[in-house]
Amino acid sequence: MNNPPLFRSVVLVVDDDQSTCDILAAVLEQEGFTVITANSGEEALELFGVHVFDVVFTDVCMDGMSGLELLERISNMDGSVKTIIMTAHGGFDTVLHALKGGAYDYIEKPIDDHPRLIAIARKAHAYATLERDNAQLLAKLKISHSKLATANEQLLEFNKKLEKLAVTDSLTGLKNRRFVDDVLSSEVALYRRYGSPFSVLMIDIDHFKGINDKYGHCGGDQVLRVLSGILMKNSRTTDTVGRIGGEEFFMLLHGTTVAGAKIVAQRILEEARSPYDIEGIEGIEITVSIGISGVDGSEDLATPEQILDRSDKALYQAKQNGRNRIEYFSVDINAQDGYQAA
Ligand code: GH3
Ligand code: MG
Ligand code: MG
Repeated sequence: MNNPPLFRSVVLVVDDDQSTCDILAAVLEQEGFTVITANSGEEALELFGVHVFDVVFTDVCMDGMSGLELLERISNMDGSVKTIIMTAHGGFDTVLHALKGGAYDYIEKPIDDHPRLIAIARKAHAYATLERDNAQLLAKLKISHSKLATANEQLLEFNKKLEKLAVTDSLTGLKNRRFVDDVLSSEVALYRRYGSPFSVLMIDIDHFKGINDKYGHCGGDQVLRVLSGILMKNSRTTDTVGRIGGEEFFMLLHGTTVAGAKIVAQRILEEARSPYDIEGIEGIEITVSIGISGVDGSEDLATPEQILDRSDKALYQAKQNGRNRIEYFSVDINAQDGYQAA
């Protein structure tokens, strides 16, 4: 049984002198290369259609296509092919030209130095193989990289959705209690730094239990959504609107004093009063009570908890005073332990 070849690499030898072809083929085949020969550049190019060559040895002066032209054509076709120019002794200009044109190496004719010929062929083959493997690895890396980038994008998108979900009230789409607490803390910090005023509205549906009793829990849920819409409509993008309890809502009006907040609250009070239809039920009527507190830069600010507590107390007062109304908390009045109707 024959030994398997050392290399599966195919070497192309191009020379119009058949005896040169034969010598090179004999030497290189003995080293394990598979060698194919051609007697012209044109014939060589045709062979490229049928074989994959790693290494090409080409004569320079040939009838028809010259070795330099062949080199250029091969480089354009497949950059990984290593082309070695065979020149007559002293043809330095040709060698320089060929190396500039992308030749891998050169060898002088007549080719008596067989060890050099073999060394060049081996090295050229090793380079070609390395480059080809590298290109394959790079291609694989590119695919993995693009898969990783896609997965990363999906993860970021998913995280964004999660973050949003974590601070959203699922029934109304408004912000939830957790977000409200955070945003109020930030607002207090802003106030301490810049003294920019803000107000907090606490809005609670009056006798909501009765709405649930009359229209069922689903009807009650729809009412909550309608009121959420009214609150959103009356807010600015810099405001925060949240649901912090069953039928209790919160609005943080950024850069707004209590005087401004009263105007917003009045609009909400009136819009909430107007009868509206929900799915299957016409002319539902509700009222809301609203408690307001705010800071306008003239006081040492209380904690976020105290701000909430003040709005809560004002809301309680509105309930006490008959519902369907607005009460607000003022520092002076607080000093006298009192609240005022807006
Ligand atoms: P008040 O005027 O004093 O605020 O009376 P109220 O009936 O509105 O207040 P109460 O706190 O006694 O009742 C609130 C009701 O809201 C009781 C509860 O079943 C209902 N509720 C709480 N969360 C939800 C919800 O998500 N959906 C619905 N449909 N009802 C809710
Ligand atoms: Mg209520
Ligand atoms: Mg309540």
